[in-house]
Amino acid sequence: MSTSSSAVGPCSQPPTTSLKDLRTSESQVEEIISSRFNFPDADIAFRSSDQVIFRVHVKNLETHSNGFPPSALCAPGSGEVVDLSEPAATLDLLFQYMYPQRQPDLNEIELSLLADLAEAAEKYEMFSALEICKIFMGNGLQDNPLTVLNYAVRHGYRDIADEAAPLTVSLPLEEVGTHMYPTYMGSWLKYYGEWRKVLEIACTEGWRIAHTNPCRISNSATCPHWLGARQNVLTKLGTRPGALNDLAMIFTTAHGLYPCAIEGLRQWEYFIVVKVNDIPKFRTFL
Ligand SMILES: [Zn+2]
Repeated sequence: MSTSSSAVGPCSQPPTTSLKDLRTSESQVEEIISSRFNFPDADIAFRSSDQVIFRVHVKNLETHSNGFPPSALCAPGSGEVVDLSEPAATLDLLFQYMYPQRQPDLNEIELSLLADLAEAAEKYEMFSALEICKIFMGNGLQDNPLTVLNYAVRHGYRDIADEAAPLTVSLPLEEVGTHMYPTYMGSWLKYYGEWRKVLEIACTEGWRIAHTNPCRISNSATCPHWLGARQNVLTKLGTRPGALNDLAMIFTTAHGLYPCAIEGLRQWEYFIVVKVNDIPKFRTFL
């Protein structure tokens, strides 16, 4: 790794603390210094939002990222500490991407931390981390579709947004209202409105389908069990558009309970699946 630096220019941002101050104040205030990033020949220091110091090399920042312009923050080597808004756990992962070493195993970290890393990688344009974060965020959409949707829309990853958005329809509205980025809330509500429309059509279709096949159980000319089958599905669909994500489960249950109504149920399920597939992708609401 390179340790050289070319110090240029005065500080454009007043330093809050210098490394010298840190050393003299160590006895009063316990400053924590990152064990991984504490190079003796470091020429710049960052402080995380939770007060951990990272001493790294300007050259590595410059060659791996575009968003850490240290010379714009302060004069490298001047001993200043630059405050960053990310917590130590995020920076500890992020900085690993600018040194020649094995990169962190993202399988081992929780999605919330991965999301913070992905945001930081985007913010500071840490090129070596961008793509791998994108892949792992995409993989996490089943577990936390809203976090992934927020990330995807903010950074223009429309394929991921389109894949995550349907799953967010199943979340409680309060959760979406609390955690969706406000900028995209209007888009999400329009998208949700499309799902509501399909749910209404789906329920109406249940009343339209007449089950006129002879009953295999009671041997009557028209199956009396269809009414029960229809009510079973209508109850499960309810008024929750997210139920449209559970069609396979809902209809499989009804098949089991009302085997002689299976033809009507299949016809109904197919009708709904086609309508759900026709819902415009999330990107069209952005
Ligand atoms: Zn029957």
